[in-house]
Amino acid sequence: MANVKKRVFSFGGGKSDGRATMRELLGGKGAGLHEMTKMGIPVPPGFTISTDVCTYFDGHGGRYPKGLEKDVSKALLRLEKNIGKRFGNAANPLLVSVRSGARESMPGMMDTVLNLGLNDGTVNGLIARTNNPRFAYDSYRRFVQMYGDVVLGLKPTERHERDPFEVILERKKEDRGIRFDTELTEEDLKELVAEFKAEIKSKLGKEFPEDPQEQLWGAIGAVFGSWKNDRAIAYRELYHIPHSWGTAVNVQTMVFGNMGDKCATGVAFTRNPATGEKELYGEFLVNAQGEDVVAGIRTPRPIAELKEAMPKAHGELVRLCKVLEKRYQDMQDIEFTIEDEKLWMLQTRAAKRTGFAAVRIAVDMVEERIISKKEALLRIDANQLNQLLQPIFDHQDKKRADDEGLVLAKGLPAGPGAASGRIVFHAEDAQEWKKQGQRVVLCRVETSPEDIRGIEAAQGILTARGGMTSHAALVARQMGKVCVVGCEALNVDYAAREMHVKGSVLKEGDWISVDGSSGEVIHGELKTLPSEIARVLIDRTLGPKESRVYQQFSKLMKWADEIRKIGVRTNADQPRQAEITRAFGGEGIGLCRTEHMFFEGERISAVREMILAGDEAGRRRALDKLLPMQKGDFKEILKVMGKLPVTIRTLDPPLHEFLPKTHEEIAELARVISVPVESLQEKVETLQEVNPMLGHRGCRLGISFPEITEMQTRAIFQAACELRKEGVDPFPEVMIPLVGSPEELGAQREIVERIAQETIKEYGVKVRYLIGTMVELPRACLVADKIALQAEFFSFGTNDLTQTCLGLSRDDAGKFLPNYISKGLMSQDPFVSIDQDGVGSLMRLAIDKGRKARRTLEIGVCGEHGGDPRSVIFCHQIGLNYVSCSPYRVPVAKLAAAQAAIKGKNK
Ligand code: ADP
Ligand code: MG
Ligand code: MG
Repeated sequence: MANVKKRVFSFGGGKSDGRATMRELLGGKGAGLHEMTKMGIPVPPGFTISTDVCTYFDGHGGRYPKGLEKDVSKALLRLEKNIGKRFGNAANPLLVSVRSGARESMPGMMDTVLNLGLNDGTVNGLIARTNNPRFAYDSYRRFVQMYGDVVLGLKPTERHERDPFEVILERKKEDRGIRFDTELTEEDLKELVAEFKAEIKSKLGKEFPEDPQEQLWGAIGAVFGSWKNDRAIAYRELYHIPHSWGTAVNVQTMVFGNMGDKCATGVAFTRNPATGEKELYGEFLVNAQGEDVVAGIRTPRPIAELKEAMPKAHGELVRLCKVLEKRYQDMQDIEFTIEDEKLWMLQTRAAKRTGFAAVRIAVDMVEERIISKKEALLRIDANQLNQLLQPIFDHQDKKRADDEGLVLAKGLPAGPGAASGRIVFHAEDAQEWKKQGQRVVLCRVETSPEDIRGIEAAQGILTARGGMTSHAALVARQMGKVCVVGCEALNVDYAAREMHVKGSVLKEGDWISVDGSSGEVIHGELKTLPSEIARVLIDRTLGPKESRVYQQFSKLMKWADEIRKIGVRTNADQPRQAEITRAFGGEGIGLCRTEHMFFEGERISAVREMILAGDEAGRRRALDKLLPMQKGDFKEILKVMGKLPVTIRTLDPPLHEFLPKTHEEIAELARVISVPVESLQEKVETLQEVNPMLGHRGCRLGISFPEITEMQTRAIFQAACELRKEGVDPFPEVMIPLVGSPEELGAQREIVERIAQETIKEYGVKVRYLIGTMVELPRACLVADKIALQAEFFSFGTNDLTQTCLGLSRDDAGKFLPNYISKGLMSQDPFVSIDQDGVGSLMRLAIDKGRKARRTLEIGVCGEHGGDPRSVIFCHQIGLNYVSCSPYRVPVAKLAAAQAAIKGKNK
């Protein structure tokens, strides 16, 4: 005989088979019910069928493991004895709920059936026992309705269709001339039961099952089945919950909140889940069942009013909330029902919360000596910190827009926060309008590097195409801009300067609002408020003492700084971004992309002149014009950063990116630099590449045109030397991109070293500097030992390394990668979170080889991965010195780094 694992776990009467730590097997809800029972908290007794059964059920076409029926019968018998009622017994019927509950709570994603066990016979027993026929029929009609929906599947099939049961219910209320369900009489409810059953019969062609056993197994099957319904799947994808976990099923004795005015049902949070404030927060309804509160049939009342309505139950609730919070050492989300003034607990779980609440609760709990600092750091989802930094929509104004039906469409929430502005369709317009003091939202089919100014000028970015790692999203995040991308419902007509969204026409200049946290696009202007933290640290319009959010945030950051091992730098190309880096306590710049400066104003002309020059002399003439501008830029950035390291990358992108594209633009440029249009056209064409990502770019440019590297080096060191004279002690690190061999790096290094020395000598000062390389080609990883001999630092360019390792073009991956992810062929977008098995192996190899060759080799990572918590943790594990991310992600990276350090120790 095989050792059969226990599958059914009973709880009740102060005893239970399970406990809090058994979430995997019992689900969160089940584990909570077992634990509360053990703690002596009043919980209606019942039993839990384990998640293992769900896994079996899924893998065997909806069948159950052998012997389950017997196990359930036994548990049911035990339950009947425990409470002295019999399931299906007409004189004294036991009624139960059949509830879902997965390891991680997925609120409302799966199904539940209440009042199960009622039929035309048992309803009489219920009446006899309670002396309350109205209540009995109210429960009965609810049961038929829920069972018909959840188990039998009688629900709307089309979007605009209404729920068939609600239609009948509405009609009944209309007939009777009443507004609320509670006004329905015993007779009305009895009729509804019959009408609901008739509806099931006529629509589905089957009878409503009268046999309680059939009802029970029908409900168990439906609840297990609901693990695989669309919304549950979608939710799991969103939160990276494995599809393999499965749900448990809880069968639990009913308690009734709908038995009259001394009964109620509700939900309570032990703290405020939006703000984190330490106060009992919740809502309740008198004479109702749990579903009513969630479904919003009636507007629930604030929990404070329960104190007057049912003082004893309220007092008990307050007490139990404290007990539970203490037991779990975390904010709890609690479901309760009051039957004849007796309080019953039906659920407890760690409550979902906003980023604001997460921070406040974690910090408060440390101060209340409930949890340690380390625990507090682990409590917060690092990504959620972002919420604290974003401007927010005024809550009341958003609600108004919701009520007025102004929400037009939904895209991907690529850059969190809230922005309102007037619609513009072109980057130049964005700049122009901004100059005139307008706030704008830049709406594009897609964006390109030239739009960078426009993006900066705009409050928010909205695109019809592109994903979360698209250019627009990347740039927007770096700037801390609100951004919604891939909003397919948008139909942008540049020519007409308008866009169509589901029947509405929005014209240039119209007001629009985008919510980068939800992806919603809203017609009209919504009021926003800048984040308090930004007002304290960046705008300095708010004193630190005036903002509680800031104070708690900064405490948390201090704790993170104390514990983390890995450094945090930023990707910053502009002085403003350098300032933000400092404001957030970034420890240097890990990537300063020199080419982003090339697009500004007159520079682009000089850049184009250089590219189009026929010979070296011509190039040098153009480069001479660029030199002072580049120097000026570097000087400003280095100055802001003081003695912190600034990694400056030499020119990287293929040159054609800087050239005009349309015929008009080419003609215009030809006029400006006085060359014939045809020859310019030809030149532009010769620079086109079939595969620019693998083409003439990176250090290959500096090798073809050493004078470019010379100019850039000169600009860097002139800036550094001048600052040195002004008493600053700058620390530039010159980084050569896209290196694949030690020879390439050696050649570029020679130039940098020579010009650096020359310049330093010229100024007669001392400047600290390093020369290193970006590691973004598999070959560079494979020969990292040799490359390290030429490099004082490595910085993994994980964007390109991902592209080259996977042979995957980021710009094209959007077409098929989502499909991979939804099919489970890939667990995460490798451009969002480092592909640890593949790209990660290359990184480990490069680190190992690199450090063997040069013990002091400094190694970091730049690219968007540096701000992704999972990637940060990985970078900590493989021993990097720092991660570099966008300035606004510094807090996120710091927190993730601290979490990595704590988890590393706990192991
Ligand atoms: P969800 O996970 O969607 O919240 P639940 O299983 O928690 O679903 O149940 C939905 C509602 O029904 C909740 O308000 C819950 O409190 C209530 N409920 C569930 N079981 C019972 C019961 N045995 N007695 C009374 N109310 C119940
Ligand atoms: Mg619930
Ligand atoms: Mg690169």
